[in-house]
Amino acid sequence: MANLILDERDQKFVLFEMLEVDKLCEKPRYQEFSLELFDMILAEAQKLAVNEVFPTLVDGDREGCRLEDGQLFVPKSFHRCYKLYCEGGWGAMTCSPEAGGQGLPYVLSVAAKDWFVHNFAFLAYPGLSEGAAHLIEAFGTEEQKKKYFARMVTGEWAGTMCLTEPNAGSDVGNLSTKAVRQPDGTFRLQGTKIFITAGDHDLTENIVHPVLARIEGDPPGTKGISLFLVPKYLVNEDGSLGRRNDFEVANIEEKMGIHGSATCLLNFGDNGDCYAELLGEERQGMKIMFQIQLSRSTAGMATALNIR
Ligand SMILES: Cc1cc2nc3c(=O)[nH]c(=O)nc-3n(C[C@H](O)[C@H](O)[C@H](O)COP(=O)(O)OP(=O)(O)OC[C@H]3O[C@@H](n4cnc5c(N)ncnc54)[C@H](O)[C@@H]3O)c2cc1C
Repeated sequence: MANLILDERDQKFVLFEMLEVDKLCEKPRYQEFSLELFDMILAEAQKLAVNEVFPTLVDGDREGCRLEDGQLFVPKSFHRCYKLYCEGGWGAMTCSPEAGGQGLPYVLSVAAKDWFVHNFAFLAYPGLSEGAAHLIEAFGTEEQKKKYFARMVTGEWAGTMCLTEPNAGSDVGNLSTKAVRQPDGTFRLQGTKIFITAGDHDLTENIVHPVLARIEGDPPGTKGISLFLVPKYLVNEDGSLGRRNDFEVANIEEKMGIHGSATCLLNFGDNGDCYAELLGEERQGMKIMFQIQLSRSTAGMATALNIR
């Protein structure tokens, strides 16, 4: 099928001839897969990309995102794409079947995503969620996995990554978002994050933000940073949604060419009641947060090269 997104033959050459990904099927973990199945998965990704995601590229950019009464709305056409993307399990390709995924090698997931990257504004929503879900799977407590991961990996809920602040970009160790310890073991956050991709939207009923902050009294620099989960809506014990958490989208920031991507300025804790849960250990926030990047970019190659 001719398309404007990527060169199918190039992709297959790299995967099947150069990297010889079919050799992964000799490993016990991937025994149930085959080259034919890999090929079929890529054909399905191409079909979804060409028929559904590509046509939203222009109108997504023209319509853009809008902020109304504190709620952010994405381009209308993204809703159908998001539904199809989640139903197809594209965000859970590498998760184990027990966790609701397909247990595929990461390199296949990276290759499939290549079909959607042309519409970065759209892909950022499920992409960020996938990364955040994997963080919780890797570092969360059993309670956090039950509460958040299960619903994020299916795309029912979304996720982000909140690092950047007005005075802390590359030098993220300078951040000033503060976490105040509570008697019940939770925290309350106060601070501002900028440039937060998918920082709010109407694709899902809840969004779980991993946020870097410094617990009061912890040392300056990166070594004093911890990571917190900050849900848009708190989650009750029975899994239902509770109160709206104390943070708000103050603005949609302009990024040329990706108007369909909600880039948000988020203010946490203006009323002193922004609920947050520690993810992983205290002062390990940088190490944990960067697993998002690692898992999404290099792991596929590492798997293919058999170094994981
Ligand atoms: C498309 C997009 C999406 C984003 N999404 C998110 C998101 O979801 N979550 C989030 O937290 N952030 C996000 N960001 C923000 C991004 O992480 C920051 O822009 C980045 O960390 C750089 O920070 P800055 O913009 O403040 O630039 P600065 O840190 O001010 O850097 C400006 C320039 O100075 C250079 N520079 C900086 N320090 C040094 C140094 N010590 N020596 C030499 N050169 C230096 C940099 O290389 C750069 O060229 C996003 C940004 C973009 C463009």
